[in-house]
Amino acid sequence: MVIFISQMSHFMVLTKVPKYKMNNGREIPAIALGTFLGFDEHGVTQSENKMLRDVVIQAIDLGYRHFDTAAVYNTEAELGEAVRITVAEQTVSRDEVFITTKLWNTRHRKGQVMKALEESLRQLGLDYVDLYLMHWPIGLNDDYTPTNTDYMETWRAMEDAVEAGYAKSIGLSNFNKQQLKRVIDEGNIKPAVLQIEIHPQLVQEELVQYAQSQGIVVMGFSPFGSMVTRFGVNYTGLRFNDPVLRQIAERHNKTTAQVVLRWFVERKIIPMPKTIRYSRLIENIDIFDFQLDEEEIEMISQFNRNVRFTAPTFWQNHPHYPFDKVDNPIEDPFTKI
Ligand code: NDP
Repeated sequence: MVIFISQMSHFMVLTKVPKYKMNNGREIPAIALGTFLGFDEHGVTQSENKMLRDVVIQAIDLGYRHFDTAAVYNTEAELGEAVRITVAEQTVSRDEVFITTKLWNTRHRKGQVMKALEESLRQLGLDYVDLYLMHWPIGLNDDYTPTNTDYMETWRAMEDAVEAGYAKSIGLSNFNKQQLKRVIDEGNIKPAVLQIEIHPQLVQEELVQYAQSQGIVVMGFSPFGSMVTRFGVNYTGLRFNDPVLRQIAERHNKTTAQVVLRWFVERKIIPMPKTIRYSRLIENIDIFDFQLDEEEIEMISQFNRNVRFTAPTFWQNHPHYPFDKVDNPIEDPFTKI
């Protein structure tokens, strides 16, 4: 649903984003704005001149209610500042905004988890997060060598964070089916969310079906896959001007980016596009006033090639590495952080 509101001298479109119910009874908005700014020669790219804060404020004005960050992204502080400003201005109340952040791999030991979350809350300037995710099933030492910490130890400490009121819900990211099943079987709290890489070239049907059959909401990261330049690399593969996507987009009077994001919504998956541009913030949220039919959904799923853009093969000898190993692992950009 779209509501037109008059803001000072101009008209702005406020999209009312639908929500899904999670297995703990809480609600989660159906699209999230990604806040990972990528890598540069210094490691993780930093926001300059409060750029990210201002993007989030614009996004809230447009109707975005769900924001995805992580301790390792270095965007928690500006995201939290934007939330505090918009709450103070009464644009939204705190409980209308949904904040997801993630535990980094070097904080997996039992005694480290609560401290890591407290640090994230301090960065955000908030007293709880709506969703706390284990970023990877991979525990690492400070020097990025593998620890033998079992992710179940980490999960139990995350359960304590719910008990303490620091996280309203907890979940997993980058876990494979077997690892997810183990947490479901052995944990006290069932994960509310699974966040994994999904785009037309990585459909992930089996894992999505399994998670959803367990009442777990799926969030899909890197929704544009090869359609955008990643880390300075132009990938071969599906592009925004693909004729099949264009044909579907023209039928609905939408852009191909909107059609791809709607493909997530049809599969009840939360897409989490990242943009820092106002025009694209508007474009990416304007996906709740049309529907794709079964045939169109299938046409997009046919692009599947099981291609991953987030495959940290530099960790592939870790006992809990979730994906297939390769012959030539890439260099670890996180050690530059
Ligand atoms: P996306 O698929 O969202 O791609 C982002 C790129 O797409 C940016 O370069 C952006 O450019 C461009 N873009 C955005 N909207 C449009 C549009 N409508 N048309 C054309 N180009 C567009 O991938 P990300 O890898 O950034 O993933 C999104 C989010 O997912 C991250 O920000 C992060 O929050 C999360 N994530 C989680 C991971 C995990 O391990 N759990 C791993 C990776 C990501 P511009 O900004 O210039 O508009």
